[in-house]
Amino acid sequence: MGTLKNYINGEFVDSQASESLDVINPSTNEVIAKVPLSTAADLDSAVAAAKIAFKSWRKTPPAERAKYIFKFKNLMEEHFEEIARLVTAEHGKTINEARGDVRRGIDNLDVACGIPSLMQGEALEDVGRGIDCTSTRRPMGVFAAITPFNFPAMVPLWFMPYAIATGNTFVLKPSEQVPTTQQRMFELWDQVGLPKGVINMVHGAKEIVNGMCIHPDIKGVSFVGSTPIAEHVYRLGTQNGKRVQALGGAKNYLVVMPDAELEQTASILVESCYGCAGERCLAGATLVLVGTAYDKFKDILVERAKQIKVGNGLDDESVSMGPVISKAHKQRIISYIEKGIAEGAELVLDGRIGYEDPESCFIGPTIFDQVKPDMTIGKEEIFGPVLCLIQAEDLDAAIEIIENHELANTTSIFTSSGKSAREFAYAVEPSMIGVNIGVAAPMSYFNFGGTKRSFFGDLKAHGKHGIEFYTDRKVVITRWL
Ligand code: NAD
Repeated sequence: MGTLKNYINGEFVDSQASESLDVINPSTNEVIAKVPLSTAADLDSAVAAAKIAFKSWRKTPPAERAKYIFKFKNLMEEHFEEIARLVTAEHGKTINEARGDVRRGIDNLDVACGIPSLMQGEALEDVGRGIDCTSTRRPMGVFAAITPFNFPAMVPLWFMPYAIATGNTFVLKPSEQVPTTQQRMFELWDQVGLPKGVINMVHGAKEIVNGMCIHPDIKGVSFVGSTPIAEHVYRLGTQNGKRVQALGGAKNYLVVMPDAELEQTASILVESCYGCAGERCLAGATLVLVGTAYDKFKDILVERAKQIKVGNGLDDESVSMGPVISKAHKQRIISYIEKGIAEGAELVLDGRIGYEDPESCFIGPTIFDQVKPDMTIGKEEIFGPVLCLIQAEDLDAAIEIIENHELANTTSIFTSSGKSAREFAYAVEPSMIGVNIGVAAPMSYFNFGGTKRSFFGDLKAHGKHGIEFYTDRKVVITRWL
C-alpha cells in the first residue's frame, strides 16, 4: 500500500509528516504499509474542511443523510471478504474473527440508517394556556474519534455513522498499528459521494490525539483504548470544553458456579479467553471458580486450551488463534507470565513453549492456577492469551473479588440457577453483564461501555447514547398572539 494518505475534504492527500511507522502483518512480519505521523497542520486542514462542510450538511434532511450511509453499507457488504482479509493481515486475528469485526461494524450502519426515527425529539401542547413546547435534537459541529488496534473495522463504526447521520461532520484518527482497514474503508466511503469535508481521516499518533483534545473547532471526542490514555483524553478534552466519551481498558472476571453445564460452558470460556488472542476488551481474563466448580472445570479447560490451533488466519481457515499485535506486545505478555511465576501462581499451561523466537508475534494459550486477586496478573490487564484461575468459596466471595477491581468493563456468570444469575447481575458493577455468555457485547442498538476506570464520561458508545452524545437539545416555547 506504500505510505498511507490522509483523507481531507473529499480527497486522499499526502500528510505533511516527516516521520512514518511501518504497519506490520504480525503473522509474517511483512511490512504492508507505512503510516505517516501526521502533524498539527494536517489536523487543522481536516478540521477546517469539516467545519465548512458542517454548514450545509446539518441542513441536509436526515433521510437524505441516511441514504449515504445505506450506500456505504451496501459497499461494505460487497467488499465484506476483502475487508475481513485486510483486518486479518494487519491485526492477526483469525479470518472468522475478522468477519465478526466487519459484521459488528456494519450493524452500526444498519442502526444509523434509522436516523429519521432515532433523532426525533419531543413536543407537548399547552405547557401553558395556548403555549406549545418542542424539544429537538440538533447536531453540534465537528466531532473526532480516536480508535484502538484491536477492532480495526468495527470500532470506528461505533462513532462515525451516528455522528454524520445526526448532521455533524467528522475526523477519524485510526490506530497507527492497524490503519490499512480504514484506508480501504475510506476508499469505499469516497465512492458514496458524500459532500466534501463531511468525513475526514488523519493518520498519526499522540500528537494528533492531543491536538484533537485541544482543537477549538472540535466539539467532542470519542476515544477507545487503554485506561491511562482514556483518562488523559477525557481530562484534556473536558478541560478544553469538549464532550468526551472515553472507553478504557478492562480486566474481566467470569464466575463459574458449581451448577454450570460442563461441555458447552468449557467451550464458551475458552473462546472468551483466547478469542482474538485475548486482545478483546470483553475477553475473559480471570475465571473465578466457585466451590466445586474448580474440580469440575480445571482439567477440561486445560485440555480445551491445548487444542487451540495457533497460526496465520490467511493461510488456514481452521486456525483458532492468531498472533498478538506486535513483538513488543508479546514481550509485554511474557513479562506478565514471568511476574505470575515470581509472585507464586502455578503455571499449568505455558504458552511460551514452542514460541520462543522473539522475532515472532505468536504465543500459545497460557493458564495460571492459584492466582490471588492482589497478584500483578490478577490485577492488571494483560491483553493476551493468558488465563488466570481464582478459587472462591461462594457467590458472595466471587462478587467481592469483582467489586474490588477497578477495570470494570464486563463480567459474566455461568450457572443453571436463575437465583444466582439474578443476584449476580443485580450486585456487580461492570455495566456489560453476561449470563452463560462469554463475550457480553451489546449489539449496536444498545449502549456499549463499562464503568469505574473502564469508562470516562456519561454517554456510552452507540445505541441511544450514541444519538445523545452527538446531539444537543433545543427547546422552543411558542405562543401565537
Ligand atoms: P492505546 O491506548 O495504546 O491506543 C489507543 C489510541 O490512543 C490509539 O489511536 C493511539 O494512537 C492513541 N495513543 C496511544 N498512546 C497515546 C499517548 N501516549 N497519548 C495520546 N494518545 C495515545 O490502546 P491500544 O493498545 O490500541 O488498544 C488496546 C486497549 O484498548 C486495551 O486496553 C483494551 O482494553 C482497550 N479497548 C477498550 C474497549 C472498550 O470498549 N472499553 C474496546 C477496545 C479496546
